[in-house]
Amino acid sequence: MRIEKNYSLKNYNTFNVEARAEVVAFIESVADVFEAKKQFHNLNKHFVLGGGSNTLFKDNFEGLIFKNEMKGIKITDSNQDYAWIECSGGEEWQHLVDFTISNNLAGIENLSLIPGTVGASPIQNIGAYGTELKDCLDFTDAVDITTGEYRRFSNKDCQFGYRDSVFKHELKDKYFITGVTVKLSKNKKYNTEYADIKRKLQELEVTELSGKLMSDIVSEIRRTKFPDPSVLGNCGSFFKNSIIDVAFFNKLKLSFPDIPGYSDCDGLVKIPTGWLIEKAGWKGRRSGDAGVYEKHALILVNYGTATGKEIYCLSENIVHDVEDKFGIHLEKEANIV
Ligand code: NAP
Repeated sequence: MRIEKNYSLKNYNTFNVEARAEVVAFIESVADVFEAKKQFHNLNKHFVLGGGSNTLFKDNFEGLIFKNEMKGIKITDSNQDYAWIECSGGEEWQHLVDFTISNNLAGIENLSLIPGTVGASPIQNIGAYGTELKDCLDFTDAVDITTGEYRRFSNKDCQFGYRDSVFKHELKDKYFITGVTVKLSKNKKYNTEYADIKRKLQELEVTELSGKLMSDIVSEIRRTKFPDPSVLGNCGSFFKNSIIDVAFFNKLKLSFPDIPGYSDCDGLVKIPTGWLIEKAGWKGRRSGDAGVYEKHALILVNYGTATGKEIYCLSENIVHDVEDKFGIHLEKEANIV
């Protein structure tokens, strides 16, 4: 296991902000997790890092960082209708998507081009274009960081919610996710509900869908709408969409007739937070090198030398302003460390 001390995390977070970690352990096996924890038991905190694509380092990290480097993807079971794919947590999420598409399996093509690692995917129940990881996750394998004990979490055990799971709450920082197993369909059924996808399918005059085509379409839409982190530092959606009750939504609609909302069957309405931030006048604004992306207000960007603190300050200013204007408190999707 490789160990680094006083190590720069600049290349390990997609915001590209400078921050140093006291110790980084590059984890290649289940045994490494416990070994690293034992070796550095005197450090008072730890953090598990995947692709750093959902993390904002506000400060240097005084503690132990576990960097997930566990690799491997394989089909572990199959029947007439489904196949089960086991994927190690250190794999890039897109490698898993590519693997399933080349094996003609359907279910995660709408999650194409989501940055980050497989190990991070259950933590936030990644989602896009009407598909969430919870729709196909069979189980998550993990190791208790303190005891070294292995545990398998069923889909139910993960307590998935909207960009949410048990790993963000009572089990926060308790487990190192070693891998996931997804159950994917051999029957090709694709989710084309979202307007951007519908538009693209019409534009291309598609008559027959395939996983590869869906993945290509999603990837193309994402490339035009979202900044490439290798060019412009960002961590995707910085805030979650806002969920409010229908009565409050109807009240807001009186003052903002064009406010968009998607109702669910529990009397709740999801409002695109990007719309709120844009309406509050933040889209394209910048403060030094920290800014709100000019094409999508849900995304905060680092134009070059912004610090984690500066990006965080910008996000707090947005939270206060949106609360003043709409009475909605924004929740951050990004993990602030
Ligand atoms: P969009 O299509 O402009 O729509 C704005 C928001 O409205 C979305 O966030 C989406 O919620 C919601 N929405 C749109 N059509 C909907 C429908 N038919 N039913 C229910 N809700 C609907 O969204 P976008 O910003 O370009 O993002 C496209 C997709 O990629 C979204 O699903 C988004 O969540 C996902 N994405 C995720 C990240 C990330 O970092 N996690 C980053 C970028 C985009 P949902 O978010 O619930 O889908």
